[in-house]
Amino acid sequence: MKFRLSMLKPAPSRLKKADNKNGIHIEEEHISEDDVIECPKCKRMLSKKAAAKKKYICYECGYYFRVRTNNRIRMVADQGTFEPWFTELKDSNPLGFEGYEDKIKEAREKTGLEEAVTIGKCQISGEDAVLGICDARFMMSSMGAIVGERIARAFERATQEKLPVILFCCSGGARMQEGIISLMQMAKTSAAIKKHSEAGLFYCAVLTDPTTGGVTASFAMLGDVILAEPGALIGFAGPRVIKQTIGQDLPEGFQSAEFLVEHGFVDSIVEREELKKTLYLLITTNRGVAGSYTNFYEESKDQAVEEAPVDSGEKAETAWDKVRAVRKATRPSGLDYMSHIFEHFYEMHGDRNYADDQAIVGGIGLLDGQPVTVITDMRGLTLDECKRRNFGMPMPEGYRKALRLMKQAEKFNRPIISFVNTTGAYCGIGAEERGQGEAIARNLLEMSALKVPVLCLMIGEGGSGGALATAVGNEVWMMENATYSILSPEGFASILWKDASRAQEASEAMKITAQDLKKLGVVEKIIPEYGIASQENCSQIAAYMKKEMKDFLKKYNGKSGDQISEDRYKRFRQY
Ligand SMILES: [Zn+2]
Repeated sequence: MKFRLSMLKPAPSRLKKADNKNGIHIEEEHISEDDVIECPKCKRMLSKKAAAKKKYICYECGYYFRVRTNNRIRMVADQGTFEPWFTELKDSNPLGFEGYEDKIKEAREKTGLEEAVTIGKCQISGEDAVLGICDARFMMSSMGAIVGERIARAFERATQEKLPVILFCCSGGARMQEGIISLMQMAKTSAAIKKHSEAGLFYCAVLTDPTTGGVTASFAMLGDVILAEPGALIGFAGPRVIKQTIGQDLPEGFQSAEFLVEHGFVDSIVEREELKKTLYLLITTNRGVAGSYTNFYEESKDQAVEEAPVDSGEKAETAWDKVRAVRKATRPSGLDYMSHIFEHFYEMHGDRNYADDQAIVGGIGLLDGQPVTVITDMRGLTLDECKRRNFGMPMPEGYRKALRLMKQAEKFNRPIISFVNTTGAYCGIGAEERGQGEAIARNLLEMSALKVPVLCLMIGEGGSGGALATAVGNEVWMMENATYSILSPEGFASILWKDASRAQEASEAMKITAQDLKKLGVVEKIIPEYGIASQENCSQIAAYMKKEMKDFLKKYNGKSGDQISEDRYKRFRQY
């Protein structure tokens, strides 16, 4: 597959700005040629200058050095745009703890910083944002009252000025010298984030090495999007504490950024090379205006895609032919169509609860400049990929991920496009333990009321509740040969006739084809396959889809969120 997830391709227009390297200046800070530093991971001696040029990444093994505040600002903010805020907030010793003031003084001398967090306003590729950076060199960036106060004020002022917040998190935890007052910072910062979020504003947390303790149990885990640097240690209780408490060895990679992605708590790993571009993409796609869904800027370019469709020469005449056609592993997947439809797709992982289910892929796509949230079932092509994706049968965490991303879409007024292609929800022990039924039900409930347009495309098999869980749309379209049914023809035959071998007969009786379902009013539109959809004619089918999608969004332009959800209510109320 040529289309890689999480990979930001060079953008056609607006995103070009993000490529502008002018904003990224890594100053060498008087490092002389022969200054060397040992890499903590590979133990090789590195030239400091060369490592700084690589954005503080070991050029031998890829290890990410911790980045100082000034260097981080240079990496992210456009040159000369950073304006520090709240520098007047300095001293605090709420418990009158002996020796604390000396410790602060020492940290200040060592780092040149007043406190562990620096807050300010800046521009990121021309976009205004509030930027906060925690620096591990200052008392392990522990959270005392000044740190908490600066962060809370950052969100308060960002709320007033309607700005997004980007926070580089890092912390050893609470600041012991401030006792209970330090603990209170967790609640204080979280409360300020809640207000910022309720104002419809975007917050992105970037977790860097190490993010632990009270910070993970407050502002670090509350981003609309949570990114993490490769290899960063992230956890509530540090590995040493866990080992001492439970007396067990911890698995390799435990609490690494990658471990957190796998377990559903981090949206994506961000490499420093992609950092600024990614932040720009996230800022510009997470600030939608209600009732505005036609940010199309390349109208003319699209008209040009008018090649005569390639007919595959194959035909699926009967319902059974169609059942067999959609089960072929080589049939184009959601990601295949997406690679032709969206100029960008940025994948986000995890349900923020248990895991990242790869049977469902979701993220932000750009449809000719219009940000949309895209969800798709994925089965996989090779055996390895099929296993990784559980053959396209989602677990509860897959549905919860989809719902999380759909709620995010609603917050930022992005329309939702859902590609549906699953035999059904996974049935098994883990799925039941984690509430498969609850997860599907929750999606039906929440999707019904979403205040943004939802378009669902049945592109292969639509199996039962597992398909419906991402198919509660304002419109539901079906590909010419797709199927959509209460259960598989095999299951139907064995339940109704106690004979699974009568599946073919069942497939005819069940009314599962696009043509039948259009007659029944279950789908609005049939998407032509020019024979049977294949890798060869995938791009032409996608071009058709794209044109129709844009027309769909135009219909909703100007409609209120309440009207959009009421339309969807009526659609399903009629059955
Ligand atoms: Zn190294």
